[in-house]
Amino acid sequence: MVLAQLGGSISRAIQQMSNATIIDEKALNDCLNEITRALLQSDVQFKLVRDMQTNIKKIVNLDDLAAGHNKRRIIQQAIFNELCKILDPGKPSFTPKKGKTSVVMFVGLQGSGKTTTCTKYAYYHQKKGWKPALVCADTFRAGAFDQLKQNATKAKIPFYGSYTESDPVKIAEEGVERFKKENCDLIIVDTSGRHKQEAALFEEMRQVSEATKPDLIIFVMDSSIGQAAFDQAQAFKQMVAVGAVIITKMDGHAKGGGALSAVAATKSPVIFIGTGEHMDEFEVFDVKPFVSRLLGMGDWSGFMDKIHEVVPMDQQPELLQKLSEGNFTLRIMYEQFQNLLKMGPIGQVFSMLPGFSAELMPKGHEKESQAKIKRYMTMMDSMTNEELDSSNPKLMNDSRMMRIARGAGRPIRDVMEMLEEYKRLAKVWSKMKGLKIPKKGEMSSLSRNMNA
Ligand code: GDP
Repeated sequence: MVLAQLGGSISRAIQQMSNATIIDEKALNDCLNEITRALLQSDVQFKLVRDMQTNIKKIVNLDDLAAGHNKRRIIQQAIFNELCKILDPGKPSFTPKKGKTSVVMFVGLQGSGKTTTCTKYAYYHQKKGWKPALVCADTFRAGAFDQLKQNATKAKIPFYGSYTESDPVKIAEEGVERFKKENCDLIIVDTSGRHKQEAALFEEMRQVSEATKPDLIIFVMDSSIGQAAFDQAQAFKQMVAVGAVIITKMDGHAKGGGALSAVAATKSPVIFIGTGEHMDEFEVFDVKPFVSRLLGMGDWSGFMDKIHEVVPMDQQPELLQKLSEGNFTLRIMYEQFQNLLKMGPIGQVFSMLPGFSAELMPKGHEKESQAKIKRYMTMMDSMTNEELDSSNPKLMNDSRMMRIARGAGRPIRDVMEMLEEYKRLAKVWSKMKGLKIPKKGEMSSLSRNMNA
């Protein structure tokens, strides 16, 4: 994801500025210009970038910086807030309620991933016990109905469409009617892809909306759309009451900045992102953790939520206590590996932390990662208690490493590799020293503390 590069460029600009001996207006301007360039290169709309620059200048007080306050933190916080402001229109979208019928209509440009996203959205809710249904009102694209039918059948989701009827309004109306009678609680209407120059298709979209009276209209946008994002999104919003945005193909090489522009144009929040072609490659979108990750600040709130979600209740206090002590021993690493292997989709928890995901368990290589972790654990099984409980890297001399290698039947370079991994993880872990142990529901204050 190229958005990650944007985060890297912004972090570098802040770092460079905080290294300067004197922070004067010029240093601040240089930093902001660097950030502006990075945002524009990522396809964020020009006006948004300019407004952001003006706002940051207003917020950041040079006197505070000169007085030796933590410059990096002040600027980073201002940028964090501004990016959150762009991505958070300030009002939540309509949220369908389980058990109560809602109609959700999907709109967007052709090829944006609408049909795929409709099924992902249905499947996501179905897994949570909803009764979704899909209606294909895309009569424009040959094969659209087949595609929806195939996806729906795979996911065992009821669907409605027609090979012969050419009026999308009629199909949409009939489909919604039928599924209302069948007591489906989430009726999803897929529509044809179109763009703002196609006046007739835009009018047709309005008619489908009028006929089905959706509770929510979701604008689906491909993350690679670039600078055109703002105008296109705005055109859709002017024609129908777009209430939420889903950005697709976040797994690709798109610059992704158009996502920020689409939110600004529709004044609607991003609610999910698509991260692959498969049905379950679909994530709930949360502004603060996203921007934190973008700026390399680590997704602490998501991390804590995940701990509460997946670490067994009785083990949480102990784990959090260990985190707060920041003292990472090989035994802790062993226990965390055990948790990771038990938890299913490996890396769910630790992938939230900067440094844990990319190297230890790269996406798409889960099998190899599991094998590697098991190998590490076998070697740790040959360690003494003293070795497991020490956080002193010097303890591991050559003769100890040789003994461990022999015991585990592995070459010594494997032991060295495992110890390197331990050192790397210990570094990440040490950042959590002093962690305030939160109760569930106190995550946002924790996230603030950690980001500070
Ligand atoms: P529509 O014309 O808007 O209905 O778009 P489709 O749903 O047919 O999707 C167009 C293409 O994008 C298909 O090949 C999809 O598999 C692909 N696609 C959709 N969402 C994603 C995503 O999140 N990631 C990736 N890599 N591909 C996606």
